[in-house]
This record gives sequence, C-alpha cells and structure tokens, in this order.
Amino acid sequence: MSEGVLNVGDIAITSLSDGQLVFDQRITFPDTPLEHWEQYYDIFPEYFSKPYFYLNLGVFVMRSSGKTLVADTGFGPHGQMLGSDTPADLMNDFARKGIGTDEIGTVFLTHLHGDHVGWNTRPEELSKPTFENARYRVHRDDWEHFTSPEILDGDPIRSEAVKRSVIPLDEAGVLDLIEGETELAPGITAIHTPGHTPGHMSLLISSGRERALLIGDVLGSPMHVTDPDLTYWPDTDQELGKKTRHHLLDMAEREEMIVLGSHLSQPGWGTLVHWEGKRYWKGF
Ligand SMILES: [Zn+2]
Repeated sequence: MSEGVLNVGDIAITSLSDGQLVFDQRITFPDTPLEHWEQYYDIFPEYFSKPYFYLNLGVFVMRSSGKTLVADTGFGPHGQMLGSDTPADLMNDFARKGIGTDEIGTVFLTHLHGDHVGWNTRPEELSKPTFENARYRVHRDDWEHFTSPEILDGDPIRSEAVKRSVIPLDEAGVLDLIEGETELAPGITAIHTPGHTPGHMSLLISSGRERALLIGDVLGSPMHVTDPDLTYWPDTDQELGKKTRHHLLDMAEREEMIVLGSHLSQPGWGTLVHWEGKRYWKGF
C-alpha cells in the first residue's frame, strides 16, 4: 500500500487535503470547556496546537471498476474559516498526487457547508465547474435547505458558500439531486445520515470481505467517537445529530468497518477500538 492510499478490497482510496487550520474549538463545541480536551492531548497529539484544534480539511478520491469519484472539495480560496486563514491547498495536492481534475466522473458532496464545496467551481471563473467531466451529486434535502430563503437571505456565512460554489453547478446543468440509498460506483453507495445537515450523506464502501464508512461530518473530530453526546454547534439538528452519530458508530463497530472522515487526523482513516471502557478512533 503506498502512502496516502487505502485499499478496501478492489477499491483504492487516496487521501487529499485542502490544508489544515488552527482554531478555538469553543466555536464548534461551545458547551465544552477547553480543559475537557486535555485528556486527549497524548492520544491525538497531531490534533492539537495546545489548547486549540488543528482542523484537517479532508478530501478523498475513490477508484472502483474504472470509475473515479471525489468526496467533497474543501474550503477553497475564499478567505477565513472559523476566524482562521485557510490554506486552499487542494488543487496543489491533486497535482502532487498526479490526479487530473478531468479524471473525476462524480463529485459527491456529503453536505453543503462551506468547507466541503469550496473547489466545486474555479476560483478565477466561479461559473465554471472545476471538475470538467463530472456530475455533482448531493442530497435533495440539503439543496432545499441551503437554497431556502431562510438561509439565502438570513444566514450570511452559509449562504455565501452556497451562492458562490453550489448554485453555479445548478446553472451549469451538472448538479444531480439524490435521495435515499444510491450507488455511485461499484461497491460505493451513498446513504442518508441526517442531523449535521438535513441531507447529510455518508458512503458505504464494500469490496470483497472489506468494509469502510466515509462518515463525513457526523464526526466533528476524532474525539467525537469517545464523546458522541457533546453538543456540536454546526449540527442543524442536535438531537438527530447525536442519534445518527451513535447509530453509525455502532454499525461501524459491529461490522468492523474502517471509518473515514473529513475532519479526522490525516490521512483520515482508522478503526474503532476499546480501551479502559471507552471507544476510540485509532488512525493508521
Ligand atoms: Zn466540515
């Protein structure tokens, strides 16, 4: 296995990143005091610029039976996120890993928050899709939620990303709305996992005897595996977010799935383990 590539049976997954930023996690975990995170300093040293979080903006390219898809497109070169400068490194990472934007047949969007749609279109010409041969796929409930007047007219942070990076896809005729379980490539199936956003989706990845789950932002950090009930401010529906988190973690553990996430430590994949009565995500 080469570095930065995970093989799940015959499916090859390459980890890419739009870069990392440091931010004060009290923005996203407002009810959790900074001291709570100290117990994790030694377990996830790569996740802390003490006492703050390093946040990875993870992106995954998956190849299965001649089909190539990318899951999410980072934040892009659009100013600050969570009060921090953003590296906007994704296109450099595509080049470093020798993957052309023209190879991508499907852009799968777990959900429509700004740090998952940023490179959907070209920064120098925002009406043009970055992935010139791709269909872009997102759940209908996210499209309807994020293009509602409530968001477009009333929520400047969220609406900016939607207007800049999502609505142009619809205007270019490359956006497909999906509902329920949908196979995107052989062995790669999108499932509806609402809570973080109304139309949040995850990917079930299955080939031979191996299974993996791209969990998207159901996990806001690896610590969310151990602390699934912490209030996570970006979740649209807090209670449903917790329920979905428990449900997916239980399923992943039961079925011995590798768990991948947008904001887990690079390269972003690991297994679930138990240690001293608690459950942890363990990257590898
Ligand atoms: Zn995110």
